Amino acid sequence: MVKIEHININGQSYIPCIGLEVHIELKTNTKMFCSCKNDSNEIIPNTNVCPICMGHPGTLPVPNKDAIEKIIKLGMALGCDIQKEATFDRKNYFYPDLPKGYQISQSFVPFCLGGKMPLFLSLNDEVNYVQLREIHLEEDAGKLLHTNAPGIALVDFNRAGVPLVELVTEPVIHSGEEVRLFGESLQLLVNYLDISNADMEKGEMRVEVNISISNVEQNDINNTLINLGQKVEIKNINSFSAACKAVEFEISRQTEILQNGQKVVGETRGWDDIKQITFSQRLKEESNDYRYFPEPDLVPIETQSFLYQELPELPWVRRQRFIQNYKLEPKKVLLFIKNIELGDFFEVLVKTSIELINNIEHNQNIIELCYNYLTVDFLGLIAKENKTFSKDLLNPNNFALLIKYLIENKISSKGAKIIIENLVRDPNLNTEDILNNNNLLQVSDENFVVELVQKVLLDNPSSVQEYKNGKESVLQFLIGQAMKASKGTANPQIVKEIMLKLLG
Ligand code: ADP
Ligand code: MG
Ligand code: ZN
Repeated sequence: MVKIEHININGQSYIPCIGLEVHIELKTNTKMFCSCKNDSNEIIPNTNVCPICMGHPGTLPVPNKDAIEKIIKLGMALGCDIQKEATFDRKNYFYPDLPKGYQISQSFVPFCLGGKMPLFLSLNDEVNYVQLREIHLEEDAGKLLHTNAPGIALVDFNRAGVPLVELVTEPVIHSGEEVRLFGESLQLLVNYLDISNADMEKGEMRVEVNISISNVEQNDINNTLINLGQKVEIKNINSFSAACKAVEFEISRQTEILQNGQKVVGETRGWDDIKQITFSQRLKEESNDYRYFPEPDLVPIETQSFLYQELPELPWVRRQRFIQNYKLEPKKVLLFIKNIELGDFFEVLVKTSIELINNIEHNQNIIELCYNYLTVDFLGLIAKENKTFSKDLLNPNNFALLIKYLIENKISSKGAKIIIENLVRDPNLNTEDILNNNNLLQVSDENFVVELVQKVLLDNPSSVQEYKNGKESVLQFLIGQAMKASKGTANPQIVKEIMLKLLG
């Protein structure tokens, strides 16, 4: 369970309740109801347009099968109830970016009802879920470009008719941080499903936040809240961190209003990213009545044949698998969930190393070594060279041999770092050659170490006495002397063992 922050307002307990409406442009070749190109990178206005997406009279929409497949894929991943026969409806409103005067959307029977979204990017062990209300398919509107000339705006219809998914949650989110987590998790999910690039900067993913402060005492907290407070809707949020901040701002603004004994006004507010505040845009009374009615030009869509699609390994399943298989904490595993190629590569490294070393007792140690040398040393070095990760940058056999040397105490951690530096510089080198060419072999030969330690003890009688008098910190000094005498080639672990033995 999430710990919900309760707010005390004049002696009564309140909580913030937040519901999201998220729009995601689908990645398809063509638009939702015509064969114009769907290309968010097109910079010349009104290039990808035709009589259908321009709303000319007498034209008829033809639904895009690929878009339907993609929204159903999303619904299946999120455990929604996929409706047998989904329908399209007209949402009527007047605005210059909407040439038809209505948007084809879904109101009565959307493709997906219910479902729940796991917040799988959470750092906690437990993953919380957000209950969804529905996911429907619609078409995007054009874009208005405001000019410097007073009263003149231009309109670009390249985006008009682009397939757009709208996902609506129940008002069961309770903090800005959770909103951020939801947005980031959903964005990554649609990347896994390969249904959208969901780049917020390009407007391919847009979030609207509905937020109220609700009195807990008037509600049954264990169920969905029934009497929610007056909600305010926040628009033009351009990033997930902005969404988080907008929520936090709105929580304090609404709390203050209630503390002063006033009422929150139902309205749409905008987010000012520079001033970091929300500001009133329009009151609820001015809001539209969309006069929804069934789209007469489209028959209901039978969804049965779309239900046999294969889903990839879902990110929260992958997260659980990595935690279980490798016994790594969520914080460590998330790196491999966010970067699939890196995660896949980690799996190859672990598998190759385990096969090479072939001793089950070392497996957990191998996993930890793979994790550390891959994510700290290797990634650190390629970041210094401004490279991004690609599996071609490192040969798994080289890496596995390095891990084997470490497990066998043939090299020190310093030696391992030197080997990785060489491998990053030249991926064609091999671990064994680097070891030999750089004299990195660590001496574990017992007779050698015994002689070494004996000499150090003879040379440092006062330190030995101090140690025997109980000053244990001297041990580190003596080990250091032995390492120095061996010019760094002795295995420090063995030096320590023998030192302790000889000191009695
Ligand atoms: P509207 O009809 O005004 O669009 P809906 O009931 O359709 O409102 O809900 C739209 C979004 O607002 C949903 O994400 C829902 O969870 C959220 N929501 C509805 N009521 C509240 C409320 N009182 N507080 C917070 N969020 C709410
Ligand atoms: Mg709404
Ligand atoms: Zn068109």
